Amino acid sequence: MDSTGIQPNSAPKAAISELTETLGPNGVLTTPEDCARYATDQSGLAGTPPLAVLRPASTEEMSQLMAICHRHALSVVPQGGRTGLSGGASCPAGVVAVTTERLTGVIEIDEEAMTLTAWAGTPLETVQEAARAVGLEYCVDIGARGTATIGGTIATNAGGIRVLQRGMTRDNVLGLEAVLADGSVISRLAKTVKDNAGFDLKHLFIGSEGVLGLVTRAVLRLHRQVPGTATALLALPDHAAALHCLNLARSMFGGRIVAFEGMWPDYWDFVCRETTLTSSPLADRYGFYVLIEIDAETGRAEEELEALFTELFEQGIALDGVLAKSGAEAQALWKLREAVGEVDDAFGPHINFDIGVSPSALGQFCEAADARLATLPEAGAVLKVGHIGDGNVHLLVAHDGRDISEDRIESVIYELVRDWHGAVTAEHGIGRIKARWIGCSRSPEELTLMRGLKAQLDPHGLLNPGALFAAPDAACHEIALKQP
Ligand SMILES: Cc1cc2nc3c(=O)[nH]c(=O)nc-3n(C[C@H](O)[C@H](O)[C@H](O)COP(=O)(O)OP(=O)(O)OC[C@H]3O[C@@H](n4cnc5c(N)ncnc54)[C@H](O)[C@@H]3O)c2cc1C
Repeated sequence: MDSTGIQPNSAPKAAISELTETLGPNGVLTTPEDCARYATDQSGLAGTPPLAVLRPASTEEMSQLMAICHRHALSVVPQGGRTGLSGGASCPAGVVAVTTERLTGVIEIDEEAMTLTAWAGTPLETVQEAARAVGLEYCVDIGARGTATIGGTIATNAGGIRVLQRGMTRDNVLGLEAVLADGSVISRLAKTVKDNAGFDLKHLFIGSEGVLGLVTRAVLRLHRQVPGTATALLALPDHAAALHCLNLARSMFGGRIVAFEGMWPDYWDFVCRETTLTSSPLADRYGFYVLIEIDAETGRAEEELEALFTELFEQGIALDGVLAKSGAEAQALWKLREAVGEVDDAFGPHINFDIGVSPSALGQFCEAADARLATLPEAGAVLKVGHIGDGNVHLLVAHDGRDISEDRIESVIYELVRDWHGAVTAEHGIGRIKARWIGCSRSPEELTLMRGLKAQLDPHGLLNPGALFAAPDAACHEIALKQP
Protein backbone atom coordinates (compact mmCIF):
# COMPACT_ATOMS: atom_id res chain seq x y z
CA MET A 1 0.00 0.00 0.00
CA ASP A 2 1.42 3.46 -0.87
CA SER A 3 0.90 6.74 1.00
CA THR A 4 -2.47 7.27 -0.77
CA GLY A 5 -3.85 4.06 0.71
CA ILE A 6 -4.09 2.49 -2.75
CA GLN A 7 -2.84 -1.03 -3.44
CA PRO A 8 -2.03 -0.71 -7.17
CA ASN A 9 -1.06 -4.31 -7.77
CA SER A 10 -3.58 -6.04 -5.57
CA ALA A 11 -5.34 -8.82 -7.45
CA PRO A 12 -8.95 -8.07 -8.43
CA LYS A 13 -9.71 -11.44 -6.81
CA ALA A 14 -8.91 -10.05 -3.34
CA ALA A 15 -11.03 -6.99 -4.02
CA ILE A 16 -13.95 -9.08 -5.25
CA SER A 17 -13.90 -11.35 -2.24
CA GLU A 18 -13.88 -8.27 0.04
CA LEU A 19 -16.78 -6.83 -2.00
CA THR A 20 -18.72 -10.10 -1.66
CA GLU A 21 -18.19 -10.05 2.10
CA THR A 22 -19.50 -6.50 2.26
CA LEU A 23 -22.44 -6.67 -0.19
CA GLY A 24 -23.42 -10.30 0.39
CA PRO A 25 -23.80 -12.94 -2.36
CA ASN A 26 -26.86 -11.18 -3.81
CA GLY A 27 -24.85 -7.99 -4.18
CA VAL A 28 -22.10 -9.42 -6.40
CA LEU A 29 -22.49 -11.43 -9.63
CA THR A 30 -19.47 -13.21 -11.02
CA THR A 31 -20.61 -16.04 -13.33
CA PRO A 32 -19.55 -15.59 -16.99
CA GLU A 33 -23.24 -15.60 -18.10
CA ASP A 34 -24.17 -12.88 -15.60
CA CYS A 35 -21.13 -10.75 -16.41
CA ALA A 36 -21.76 -11.08 -20.17
CA ARG A 37 -25.21 -9.48 -19.73
CA TYR A 38 -23.65 -6.31 -18.32
CA ALA A 39 -20.88 -5.95 -20.93
CA THR A 40 -22.44 -3.12 -22.90
CA ASP A 41 -25.37 -0.81 -23.58
CA GLN A 42 -27.59 -0.02 -26.58
CA SER A 43 -24.87 1.89 -28.44
CA GLY A 44 -23.75 -1.18 -30.38
CA LEU A 45 -20.24 -0.81 -28.98
CA ALA A 46 -18.79 -4.24 -28.20
CA GLY A 47 -18.02 -4.28 -24.47
CA THR A 48 -16.02 -6.76 -22.41
CA PRO A 49 -17.76 -8.72 -19.65
CA PRO A 50 -16.83 -7.03 -16.36
CA LEU A 51 -14.83 -8.93 -13.71
CA ALA A 52 -17.92 -8.73 -11.49
CA VAL A 53 -21.25 -6.93 -11.33
CA LEU A 54 -21.80 -5.02 -8.09
CA ARG A 55 -25.41 -4.45 -7.01
CA PRO A 56 -25.55 -2.12 -4.00
CA ALA A 57 -28.93 -1.76 -2.28
CA SER A 58 -28.29 1.47 -0.32
CA THR A 59 -26.15 4.60 -0.36
CA GLU A 60 -24.11 3.08 2.45
CA GLU A 61 -23.35 -0.02 0.37
CA MET A 62 -22.44 2.16 -2.62
CA SER A 63 -20.07 4.11 -0.40
CA GLN A 64 -18.51 0.95 1.04
CA LEU A 65 -18.00 -0.64 -2.38
CA MET A 66 -16.39 2.48 -3.79
CA ALA A 67 -14.01 2.66 -0.80
CA ILE A 68 -12.99 -0.96 -1.46
CA CYS A 69 -12.54 -0.39 -5.20
CA HIS A 70 -10.50 2.73 -4.43
CA ARG A 71 -8.22 0.84 -2.05
CA HIS A 72 -7.65 -1.89 -4.64
CA ALA A 73 -7.35 0.54 -7.59
CA LEU A 74 -10.23 -1.26 -9.29
CA SER A 75 -11.97 0.72 -12.03
CA VAL A 76 -15.77 0.83 -12.11
CA VAL A 77 -18.32 1.44 -14.85
CA PRO A 78 -21.61 2.83 -13.51
CA GLN A 79 -24.69 1.34 -15.16
CA GLY A 80 -28.38 2.22 -15.05
CA GLY A 81 -30.79 0.78 -17.63
CA ARG A 82 -27.97 0.43 -20.24
CA THR A 83 -30.11 2.17 -22.86
CA GLY A 84 -27.34 4.71 -23.54
CA LEU A 85 -26.46 5.32 -27.19
CA SER A 86 -22.86 6.53 -26.72
CA GLY A 87 -21.22 3.54 -25.05
CA GLY A 88 -20.85 5.26 -21.66
CA ALA A 89 -22.06 2.14 -19.82
CA SER A 90 -20.08 -0.25 -22.01
CA CYS A 91 -17.24 -2.00 -20.15
CA PRO A 92 -13.57 -1.92 -21.18
CA ALA A 93 -11.42 -4.85 -20.01
CA GLY A 94 -10.54 -5.23 -16.33
CA VAL A 95 -13.36 -3.23 -14.70
CA VAL A 96 -16.27 -4.03 -12.43
CA ALA A 97 -19.76 -2.84 -13.36
CA VAL A 98 -21.79 -1.08 -10.67
CA THR A 99 -25.49 -1.35 -11.46
CA THR A 100 -28.24 0.63 -9.73
CA GLU A 101 -30.82 -2.11 -10.38
CA ARG A 102 -31.34 -2.70 -6.63
CA LEU A 103 -31.44 1.03 -5.82
CA THR A 104 -35.01 1.46 -6.98
CA GLY A 105 -38.24 3.03 -5.88
CA VAL A 106 -39.99 6.32 -5.33
CA ILE A 107 -39.08 7.51 -1.83
CA GLU A 108 -41.43 10.46 -1.43
CA ILE A 109 -43.77 12.74 -3.33
CA ASP A 110 -44.24 16.20 -1.82
CA GLU A 111 -47.36 17.58 -3.50
CA GLU A 112 -46.99 21.06 -2.01
CA ALA A 113 -43.35 21.46 -2.96
CA MET A 114 -44.12 19.61 -6.23
CA THR A 115 -41.11 17.30 -5.88
CA LEU A 116 -40.49 13.59 -6.12
CA THR A 117 -37.53 11.90 -4.46
CA ALA A 118 -36.38 8.62 -6.00
CA TRP A 119 -33.53 6.14 -5.97
CA ALA A 120 -31.23 6.37 -8.96
CA GLY A 121 -32.16 2.96 -10.40
CA THR A 122 -35.88 3.76 -10.67
CA PRO A 123 -37.07 3.53 -14.28
CA LEU A 124 -38.10 6.90 -15.72
CA GLU A 125 -41.58 5.58 -16.56
CA THR A 126 -42.16 4.50 -12.92
CA VAL A 127 -41.43 8.06 -11.82
CA GLN A 128 -43.70 9.52 -14.52
CA GLU A 129 -46.56 7.20 -13.46
CA ALA A 130 -46.11 7.94 -9.74
CA ALA A 131 -46.28 11.68 -10.44
CA ARG A 132 -49.36 11.30 -12.67
CA ALA A 133 -51.16 9.34 -9.96
CA VAL A 134 -51.27 12.53 -7.85
CA GLY A 135 -52.11 14.90 -10.71
CA LEU A 136 -48.50 15.99 -11.25
CA GLU A 137 -45.98 15.34 -14.03
CA TYR A 138 -42.27 14.61 -14.32
CA CYS A 139 -41.59 16.17 -17.68
CA VAL A 140 -38.35 14.50 -18.81
CA ASP A 141 -39.50 12.03 -21.47
CA ILE A 142 -37.55 9.84 -23.88
CA GLY A 143 -38.38 6.82 -26.05
CA ALA A 144 -36.45 4.50 -23.70
CA ARG A 145 -38.61 5.57 -20.72
CA GLY A 146 -39.49 1.99 -19.68
CA THR A 147 -35.86 0.96 -19.07
CA ALA A 148 -33.76 4.13 -18.72
CA THR A 149 -33.23 5.04 -15.06
CA ILE A 150 -33.36 8.31 -13.18
CA GLY A 151 -29.60 7.99 -12.45
CA GLY A 152 -28.82 7.34 -16.12
CA THR A 153 -30.94 10.25 -17.32
CA ILE A 154 -29.20 12.50 -14.78
CA ALA A 155 -25.72 11.23 -15.67
CA THR A 156 -26.40 11.90 -19.38
CA ASN A 157 -28.51 15.05 -18.82
CA ALA A 158 -31.09 13.39 -21.07
CA GLY A 159 -33.14 15.61 -23.35
CA GLY A 160 -36.01 14.05 -25.28
CA ILE A 161 -39.32 15.27 -26.55
CA ARG A 162 -40.28 17.89 -23.93
CA VAL A 163 -37.14 20.01 -23.80
CA LEU A 164 -38.80 22.90 -25.65
CA GLN A 165 -41.31 23.32 -22.83
CA ARG A 166 -39.57 21.97 -19.72
CA GLY A 167 -35.85 21.93 -20.45
CA MET A 168 -33.25 19.18 -20.18
CA THR A 169 -32.91 16.86 -17.16
CA ARG A 170 -30.64 19.52 -15.60
CA ASP A 171 -33.66 21.85 -15.40
CA ASN A 172 -35.73 19.21 -13.62
CA VAL A 173 -33.40 18.18 -10.78
CA LEU A 174 -33.53 20.07 -7.48
CA GLY A 175 -31.39 17.89 -5.22
CA LEU A 176 -28.88 15.11 -5.60
CA GLU A 177 -26.88 12.54 -3.70
CA ALA A 178 -23.69 11.10 -5.19
CA VAL A 179 -20.88 8.83 -4.04
CA LEU A 180 -17.36 9.85 -5.02
CA ALA A 181 -14.50 7.60 -6.16
CA ASP A 182 -13.11 7.25 -2.61
CA GLY A 183 -16.52 6.36 -1.17
CA SER A 184 -17.36 9.75 0.34
CA VAL A 185 -20.99 10.80 0.02
CA ILE A 186 -22.08 14.23 -1.21
CA SER A 187 -25.72 14.49 -0.21
CA ARG A 188 -27.94 17.48 -0.83
CA LEU A 189 -31.46 16.12 -1.27
CA ALA A 190 -32.90 19.61 -1.05
CA LYS A 191 -36.24 20.82 -2.32
CA THR A 192 -35.12 24.44 -2.39
CA VAL A 193 -35.89 26.21 -5.63
CA LYS A 194 -33.64 29.12 -4.68
CA ASP A 195 -30.25 28.37 -3.10
CA ASN A 196 -27.27 30.57 -3.79
CA ALA A 197 -25.06 29.34 -0.95
CA GLY A 198 -21.97 28.79 -3.05
CA PHE A 199 -21.50 26.52 -6.05
CA ASP A 200 -24.49 24.41 -7.05
CA LEU A 201 -22.54 21.14 -6.96
CA LYS A 202 -25.34 18.96 -8.29
CA HIS A 203 -24.62 20.39 -11.74
CA LEU A 204 -21.16 18.79 -11.64
CA PHE A 205 -22.76 15.36 -11.63
CA ILE A 206 -25.62 16.09 -14.06
CA GLY A 207 -24.29 15.24 -17.51
CA SER A 208 -20.96 13.95 -16.16
CA GLU A 209 -21.59 10.42 -17.52
CA GLY A 210 -20.43 8.63 -14.40
CA VAL A 211 -16.86 9.98 -14.48
CA LEU A 212 -17.15 12.18 -11.37
CA GLY A 213 -19.41 10.18 -9.05
CA LEU A 214 -22.26 7.69 -8.77
CA VAL A 215 -25.70 9.21 -8.37
CA THR A 216 -27.69 7.34 -5.71
CA ARG A 217 -30.79 9.50 -5.08
CA ALA A 218 -32.37 12.62 -6.54
CA VAL A 219 -35.10 15.15 -5.84
CA LEU A 220 -36.97 15.85 -9.06
CA ARG A 221 -39.05 18.87 -9.93
CA LEU A 222 -42.68 18.15 -10.86
CA HIS A 223 -45.26 20.24 -12.71
CA ARG A 224 -49.03 20.29 -12.51
CA GLN A 225 -50.56 17.90 -15.02
CA VAL A 226 -52.47 19.82 -17.67
CA PRO A 227 -55.75 18.06 -18.53
CA GLY A 228 -55.93 18.53 -22.31
CA THR A 229 -53.47 17.87 -25.10
CA ALA A 230 -53.81 17.90 -28.86
CA THR A 231 -51.45 16.38 -31.40
CA ALA A 232 -51.14 17.08 -35.11
CA LEU A 233 -48.96 16.28 -38.08
CA LEU A 234 -48.19 18.98 -40.62
CA ALA A 235 -46.75 18.57 -44.11
CA LEU A 236 -44.63 21.55 -45.14
CA PRO A 237 -42.41 22.49 -48.07
CA ASP A 238 -39.14 22.69 -46.11
CA HIS A 239 -37.36 23.30 -42.80
CA ALA A 240 -37.71 27.09 -43.16
CA ALA A 241 -41.50 26.64 -43.23
CA ALA A 242 -41.22 24.56 -40.04
CA LEU A 243 -39.45 27.45 -38.29
CA HIS A 244 -42.17 29.81 -39.48
CA CYS A 245 -44.76 27.39 -38.11
CA LEU A 246 -42.92 27.23 -34.75
CA ASN A 247 -42.86 31.01 -34.45
CA LEU A 248 -46.56 31.25 -35.26
CA ALA A 249 -47.35 28.47 -32.74
CA ARG A 250 -45.31 30.32 -30.09
CA SER A 251 -47.27 33.50 -30.70
CA MET A 252 -50.56 31.59 -30.36
CA PHE A 253 -49.75 29.15 -27.52
CA GLY A 254 -46.78 30.63 -25.67
CA GLY A 255 -45.22 28.03 -23.38
CA ARG A 256 -47.92 25.45 -24.12
CA ILE A 257 -46.04 23.78 -26.97
CA VAL A 258 -45.24 20.38 -25.46
CA ALA A 259 -43.31 19.05 -28.44
CA PHE A 260 -42.22 20.21 -31.87
CA GLU A 261 -40.49 17.41 -33.74
CA GLY A 262 -39.24 17.40 -37.32
CA MET A 263 -38.85 14.67 -39.93
CA TRP A 264 -37.01 15.15 -43.21
CA PRO A 265 -38.35 13.28 -46.29
CA ASP A 266 -35.41 10.81 -46.29
CA TYR A 267 -36.43 9.59 -42.81
CA TRP A 268 -40.15 9.73 -43.61
CA ASP A 269 -39.80 7.62 -46.76
CA PHE A 270 -37.65 5.07 -44.94
CA VAL A 271 -40.03 4.45 -42.02
CA CYS A 272 -43.28 4.79 -44.02
CA ARG A 273 -42.47 3.44 -47.47
CA GLU A 274 -39.21 1.51 -47.67
CA THR A 275 -39.88 -0.52 -44.49
CA THR A 276 -42.99 -1.65 -42.63
CA LEU A 277 -42.01 0.16 -39.42
CA THR A 278 -45.04 2.45 -39.75
CA SER A 279 -47.27 3.87 -42.48
CA SER A 280 -47.96 7.36 -43.77
CA PRO A 281 -51.33 8.94 -42.98
CA LEU A 282 -50.79 11.29 -45.95
CA ALA A 283 -51.30 10.43 -49.62
CA ASP A 284 -48.49 12.54 -51.07
CA ARG A 285 -44.83 13.14 -50.39
CA TYR A 286 -43.68 16.53 -49.00
CA GLY A 287 -40.49 18.43 -48.26
CA PHE A 288 -40.79 18.37 -44.45
CA TYR A 289 -43.01 16.95 -41.70
CA VAL A 290 -43.69 18.36 -38.23
CA LEU A 291 -45.31 16.71 -35.25
CA ILE A 292 -46.71 19.28 -32.84
CA GLU A 293 -48.33 18.72 -29.46
CA ILE A 294 -49.82 21.45 -27.28
CA ASP A 295 -51.54 21.34 -23.91
CA ALA A 296 -54.47 23.35 -22.58
CA GLU A 297 -56.42 23.72 -19.35
CA THR A 298 -59.69 24.32 -21.13
CA GLY A 299 -60.28 21.19 -23.19
CA ARG A 300 -60.01 23.39 -26.29
CA ALA A 301 -56.54 22.23 -27.36
CA GLU A 302 -57.88 20.58 -30.52
CA GLU A 303 -59.76 23.70 -31.56
CA GLU A 304 -56.63 25.74 -30.96
CA LEU A 305 -54.52 23.49 -33.17
CA GLU A 306 -57.24 23.73 -35.84
CA ALA A 307 -56.84 27.50 -35.69
CA LEU A 308 -53.09 27.08 -36.29
CA PHE A 309 -53.85 24.83 -39.27
CA THR A 310 -56.26 27.39 -40.74
CA GLU A 311 -53.75 30.20 -40.40
CA LEU A 312 -50.94 28.10 -41.92
CA PHE A 313 -53.11 26.97 -44.86
CA GLU A 314 -54.24 30.56 -45.48
CA GLN A 315 -50.63 31.72 -45.51
CA GLY A 316 -49.79 28.92 -47.98
CA ILE A 317 -47.26 27.43 -45.51
CA ALA A 318 -49.03 24.15 -44.70
CA LEU A 319 -49.59 21.73 -47.59
CA ASP A 320 -51.42 18.96 -45.77
CA GLY A 321 -51.98 17.76 -42.21
CA VAL A 322 -53.71 15.41 -39.78
CA LEU A 323 -55.21 16.40 -36.44
CA ALA A 324 -55.50 13.45 -34.02
CA LYS A 325 -59.10 12.94 -32.84
CA SER A 326 -58.33 10.40 -30.12
CA GLY A 327 -55.52 9.15 -27.93
CA ALA A 328 -55.00 6.21 -30.31
CA GLU A 329 -54.68 8.56 -33.28
CA ALA A 330 -52.19 10.71 -31.37
CA GLN A 331 -50.16 7.58 -30.55
CA ALA A 332 -50.16 6.58 -34.23
CA LEU A 333 -48.72 10.01 -35.11
CA TRP A 334 -46.06 9.65 -32.39
CA LYS A 335 -45.13 6.24 -33.81
CA LEU A 336 -43.97 8.04 -36.98
CA ARG A 337 -41.41 9.95 -34.91
CA GLU A 338 -40.45 7.22 -32.43
CA ALA A 339 -39.85 4.64 -35.19
CA VAL A 340 -36.28 6.01 -35.24
CA GLY A 341 -35.66 3.73 -32.23
CA GLU A 342 -36.40 0.72 -34.46
CA VAL A 343 -34.52 1.50 -37.67
CA ASP A 344 -31.26 -0.18 -36.62
CA ASP A 345 -31.76 -3.62 -38.19
CA ALA A 346 -33.46 -2.41 -41.35
CA PHE A 347 -30.93 0.37 -42.03
CA GLY A 348 -27.80 -1.79 -41.65
CA PRO A 349 -24.42 -0.45 -40.45
CA HIS A 350 -24.67 3.26 -39.76
CA ILE A 351 -23.50 6.11 -37.55
CA ASN A 352 -26.15 7.76 -35.39
CA PHE A 353 -25.10 11.40 -35.06
CA ASP A 354 -26.76 13.53 -32.37
CA ILE A 355 -25.89 17.04 -33.48
CA GLY A 356 -26.87 20.32 -31.83
CA VAL A 357 -26.71 23.70 -33.59
CA SER A 358 -28.62 26.95 -33.25
CA PRO A 359 -32.31 26.10 -33.97
CA SER A 360 -32.42 28.79 -36.64
CA ALA A 361 -29.44 27.25 -38.48
CA LEU A 362 -30.51 23.60 -38.34
CA GLY A 363 -32.00 23.44 -41.86
CA GLN A 364 -28.90 24.98 -43.44
CA PHE A 365 -26.62 22.76 -41.36
CA CYS A 366 -28.45 19.67 -42.67
CA GLU A 367 -28.15 20.91 -46.26
CA ALA A 368 -24.41 21.41 -45.75
CA ALA A 369 -24.08 17.93 -44.19
CA ASP A 370 -26.00 16.34 -47.08
CA ALA A 371 -23.77 18.15 -49.60
CA ARG A 372 -20.56 16.99 -47.89
CA LEU A 373 -21.79 13.41 -47.50
CA ALA A 374 -22.78 13.27 -51.18
CA THR A 375 -19.10 13.71 -52.06
CA LEU A 376 -17.99 10.80 -49.85
CA PRO A 377 -17.96 7.38 -51.53
CA GLU A 378 -17.94 5.83 -48.02
CA ALA A 379 -21.34 7.34 -47.11
CA GLY A 380 -24.59 5.62 -48.03
CA ALA A 381 -28.17 6.69 -47.35
CA VAL A 382 -28.85 9.47 -44.85
CA LEU A 383 -31.90 9.77 -42.55
CA LYS A 384 -32.68 12.97 -40.63
CA VAL A 385 -35.11 13.36 -37.75
CA GLY A 386 -34.99 15.47 -34.65
CA HIS A 387 -36.10 17.84 -31.96
CA ILE A 388 -36.07 20.81 -34.28
CA GLY A 389 -37.37 23.29 -31.74
CA ASP A 390 -34.14 22.57 -29.80
CA GLY A 391 -31.82 22.63 -32.86
CA ASN A 392 -31.07 18.92 -32.38
CA VAL A 393 -30.93 16.56 -35.36
CA HIS A 394 -30.35 12.81 -35.30
CA LEU A 395 -28.48 12.21 -38.51
CA LEU A 396 -28.18 8.54 -39.42
CA VAL A 397 -25.56 7.82 -42.08
CA ALA A 398 -25.28 4.35 -43.60
CA HIS A 399 -21.87 2.95 -44.54
CA ASP A 400 -20.21 -0.32 -45.54
CA GLY A 401 -19.36 -1.35 -41.97
CA ARG A 402 -15.61 -0.67 -42.22
CA ASP A 403 -13.90 1.30 -39.42
CA ILE A 404 -12.09 3.43 -41.96
CA SER A 405 -15.40 4.49 -43.55
CA GLU A 406 -16.82 5.38 -40.14
CA ASP A 407 -13.77 7.46 -39.35
CA ARG A 408 -13.95 9.36 -42.64
CA ILE A 409 -17.66 10.13 -42.26
CA GLU A 410 -17.21 11.18 -38.63
CA SER A 411 -14.35 13.56 -39.48
CA VAL A 412 -16.42 15.25 -42.16
CA ILE A 413 -19.50 15.70 -39.98
CA TYR A 414 -17.70 16.68 -36.77
CA GLU A 415 -15.51 19.20 -38.56
CA LEU A 416 -18.70 20.71 -39.94
CA VAL A 417 -20.11 20.81 -36.40
CA ARG A 418 -16.95 22.60 -35.24
CA ASP A 419 -17.25 25.15 -38.05
CA TRP A 420 -20.89 25.80 -37.16
CA HIS A 421 -20.05 26.15 -33.41
CA GLY A 422 -22.33 23.24 -32.66
CA ALA A 423 -22.35 20.29 -30.26
CA VAL A 424 -21.02 16.84 -31.25
CA THR A 425 -23.71 15.52 -28.95
CA ALA A 426 -26.85 17.45 -28.08
CA GLU A 427 -28.36 14.91 -25.69
CA HIS A 428 -26.99 11.33 -25.88
CA GLY A 429 -23.63 12.21 -24.31
CA ILE A 430 -20.03 11.64 -25.33
CA GLY A 431 -19.60 8.17 -23.79
CA ARG A 432 -16.79 6.13 -25.33
CA ILE A 433 -17.94 6.39 -28.93
CA LYS A 434 -17.51 10.16 -29.25
CA ALA A 435 -14.71 10.71 -26.71
CA ARG A 436 -12.09 11.45 -29.37
CA TRP A 437 -14.32 14.06 -31.00
CA ILE A 438 -15.05 16.18 -27.92
CA GLY A 439 -12.42 18.67 -29.11
CA CYS A 440 -14.71 19.66 -31.98
CA SER A 441 -17.12 21.10 -29.40
CA ARG A 442 -14.86 22.18 -26.53
CA SER A 443 -11.77 24.38 -26.56
CA PRO A 444 -8.43 23.11 -25.17
CA GLU A 445 -8.92 25.47 -22.20
CA GLU A 446 -12.35 24.01 -21.43
CA LEU A 447 -10.94 20.48 -21.70
CA THR A 448 -8.09 21.32 -19.33
CA LEU A 449 -10.59 22.60 -16.77
CA MET A 450 -12.76 19.49 -17.17
CA ARG A 451 -9.74 17.20 -16.72
CA GLY A 452 -8.71 19.21 -13.63
CA LEU A 453 -12.16 18.67 -12.05
CA LYS A 454 -11.93 14.96 -12.86
CA ALA A 455 -8.46 14.75 -11.27
CA GLN A 456 -9.72 16.52 -8.14
CA LEU A 457 -12.72 14.22 -7.64
CA ASP A 458 -11.22 10.99 -8.95
CA PRO A 459 -7.43 11.35 -8.70
CA HIS A 460 -6.75 7.74 -9.71
CA GLY A 461 -9.09 7.78 -12.71
CA LEU A 462 -11.16 4.85 -11.48
CA LEU A 463 -14.62 6.11 -12.43
CA ASN A 464 -15.72 5.09 -15.93
CA PRO A 465 -12.27 5.10 -17.57
CA GLY A 466 -12.33 5.94 -21.29
CA ALA A 467 -15.76 7.60 -21.12
CA LEU A 468 -16.01 11.32 -21.90
CA PHE A 469 -12.21 11.71 -21.95
CA ALA A 470 -10.50 9.48 -24.52
CA ALA A 471 -7.74 7.12 -23.40
CA PRO A 472 -4.34 8.91 -23.60
CA ASP A 473 -3.19 6.84 -26.60
CA ALA A 474 -6.34 7.44 -28.69
CA ALA A 475 -6.09 9.62 -31.79
CA CYS A 476 -8.02 12.64 -30.58
CA HIS A 477 -9.49 15.51 -32.45
CA GLU A 478 -8.91 18.49 -30.27
CA ILE A 479 -9.11 20.85 -33.18
CA ALA A 480 -8.68 24.46 -32.11
CA LEU A 481 -12.12 26.00 -32.14
CA LYS A 482 -12.54 29.06 -34.29
CA GLN A 483 -14.17 31.83 -32.33
CA PRO A 484 -17.53 33.01 -33.71
C1 LIG B 1 -35.18 3.90 -27.98
C2 LIG B 1 -34.29 4.92 -27.32
C3 LIG B 1 -34.67 6.26 -27.32
C4 LIG B 1 -33.85 7.22 -26.71
N1 LIG B 1 -34.25 8.51 -26.74
C5 LIG B 1 -33.49 9.45 -26.14
C6 LIG B 1 -33.89 10.83 -26.16
O1 LIG B 1 -34.90 11.21 -26.77
N2 LIG B 1 -33.12 11.73 -25.52
C7 LIG B 1 -31.97 11.35 -24.85
O2 LIG B 1 -31.32 12.21 -24.25
N3 LIG B 1 -31.56 10.06 -24.83
C8 LIG B 1 -32.29 9.11 -25.46
N4 LIG B 1 -31.86 7.81 -25.46
C9 LIG B 1 -30.58 7.46 -24.83
C10 LIG B 1 -30.70 6.89 -23.39
O3 LIG B 1 -31.95 6.34 -23.15
C11 LIG B 1 -30.41 7.98 -22.38
O4 LIG B 1 -29.05 8.34 -22.52
C12 LIG B 1 -30.66 7.59 -20.92
O5 LIG B 1 -30.50 8.75 -20.15
C13 LIG B 1 -29.74 6.52 -20.38
O6 LIG B 1 -30.25 6.03 -19.15
P1 LIG B 1 -29.80 4.61 -18.59
O7 LIG B 1 -30.36 4.43 -17.23
O8 LIG B 1 -30.13 3.55 -19.56
O9 LIG B 1 -28.23 4.81 -18.48
P2 LIG B 1 -27.05 3.87 -18.96
O10 LIG B 1 -27.14 3.64 -20.41
O11 LIG B 1 -26.96 2.69 -18.08
O12 LIG B 1 -25.81 4.83 -18.67
C14 LIG B 1 -25.63 6.03 -19.37
C15 LIG B 1 -24.43 6.79 -18.78
O13 LIG B 1 -24.73 7.20 -17.46
C16 LIG B 1 -23.84 6.60 -16.52
N5 LIG B 1 -24.67 6.24 -15.36
C17 LIG B 1 -25.77 5.46 -15.34
N6 LIG B 1 -26.30 5.46 -14.11
C18 LIG B 1 -25.52 6.25 -13.34
C19 LIG B 1 -25.55 6.65 -11.98
N7 LIG B 1 -26.50 6.24 -11.13
N8 LIG B 1 -24.58 7.48 -11.54
C20 LIG B 1 -23.60 7.93 -12.35
N9 LIG B 1 -23.52 7.58 -13.65
C21 LIG B 1 -24.47 6.75 -14.13
C22 LIG B 1 -23.21 5.43 -17.24
O14 LIG B 1 -21.91 5.15 -16.76
C23 LIG B 1 -23.17 5.94 -18.67
O15 LIG B 1 -22.06 6.78 -18.85
C24 LIG B 1 -32.64 6.83 -26.08
C25 LIG B 1 -32.26 5.48 -26.09
C26 LIG B 1 -33.05 4.53 -26.71
C27 LIG B 1 -32.61 3.11 -26.68
